[in-house]
Amino acid sequence: MIVLCAERLYTPQEEIWKPLLFIEDGFISAVSSRAQAEIPTHATVFDLGDAILTPGFVDVHMHGGAGVDVMRAVAGELPHLNKFLTTHGVTGYFPTTVAAPLDQTCQALERLADAIEAGCAGTKTGDDVQALLLGIHLEGPFLSHKRRGVHPLEYLVEPTLEIFSQLWQAARGHVRMMTIAPELPGALDVIAEAARRGVCVSIGHSDATTDAAAAGVRAGARHATHVFNAMRPLDHRDPGILGEVLTNGDITADIIADGIHLAPEIVKLFLLAKGIEHSVLITDAIAATGMPDGTYQLGPIEVEVKDGKCTKDGKLAASVLTMDRAIRNATKFSDWSLREAVRAATFNPAQAAGLRSQGKLAVGAEANVVALDSNGEVRRTMVRGRGF
Ligand SMILES: [Zn+2]
Repeated sequence: MIVLCAERLYTPQEEIWKPLLFIEDGFISAVSSRAQAEIPTHATVFDLGDAILTPGFVDVHMHGGAGVDVMRAVAGELPHLNKFLTTHGVTGYFPTTVAAPLDQTCQALERLADAIEAGCAGTKTGDDVQALLLGIHLEGPFLSHKRRGVHPLEYLVEPTLEIFSQLWQAARGHVRMMTIAPELPGALDVIAEAARRGVCVSIGHSDATTDAAAAGVRAGARHATHVFNAMRPLDHRDPGILGEVLTNGDITADIIADGIHLAPEIVKLFLLAKGIEHSVLITDAIAATGMPDGTYQLGPIEVEVKDGKCTKDGKLAASVLTMDRAIRNATKFSDWSLREAVRAATFNPAQAAGLRSQGKLAVGAEANVVALDSNGEVRRTMVRGRGF
């Protein structure tokens, strides 16, 4: 048995002072406080001093980092990325595709499915902690031509059940999230089928009207992708998709809080609208994350990175954001506490994506734990009970 002691713990719905976190066989067996429980004599104790224990961060929209692009990575390259992610507190993520030729996408999905099944992300030794691949996010190819961002026009396709099935089969059922523009012909059937298979369908890269977005939600969509970015803009007489995303209390939604994709006031507006239960932080990070400025691949797309800004032909192209910085930014841009921002990077994404044993420090959850200092800087990261 392992017992972690610290100054505070975020479950994250609750805050516990002077906590004790009990871990057995990679899972959390009890959450308590020093006042309420004794430390068994046979336990291995890690005292984290004045640190705050939080669940490991869950990133549902991530294209790469540390020089590795998830669509192009060959076997053996992902562990380097997975290790890098833990240094920023991420213990689980969805490798995310971009629009690419269908055969290339299918090959990438097969490789990612292999990595997921091989547990290549699993931890091997005490020192070698790696973030876990929790499933695949398909960002495209069913995106709006008008709101495609940098996804290449020639690789966008109209949604059909046939193409969705082809992608599903290549991924061997490991697709857990899909971004789709609900206004496209055929989209509602694909949304319904994906939802039936347990995929968290997310509306985004979309020029939908409010009605078309609402129809997507009725068909089974329950989330929205990088809200405000690659979306029909909000107009007070014609609110479009944002009217649905910001006012529907049943759906969750995510943002890129890097200070580049959204003005701080818009981050604050989003957090006010979606609240502490429905707001999700993502990074949308690419291979350039944690690397010097230069030219990097995002699937088939070549991206220029300069001063922390990723562009393709002058258009914003994803980010070099890390999840710990997204959390700190959310507290800086709003009046949210560190605990509320942590929730948007842990419990909320896990709930949105149906990941029942992730994103919380609770009995039965995987022992994926981050020790933060009071400024939100990552000190230590534990994956499945290992790494401290
Ligand atoms: Zn993306």
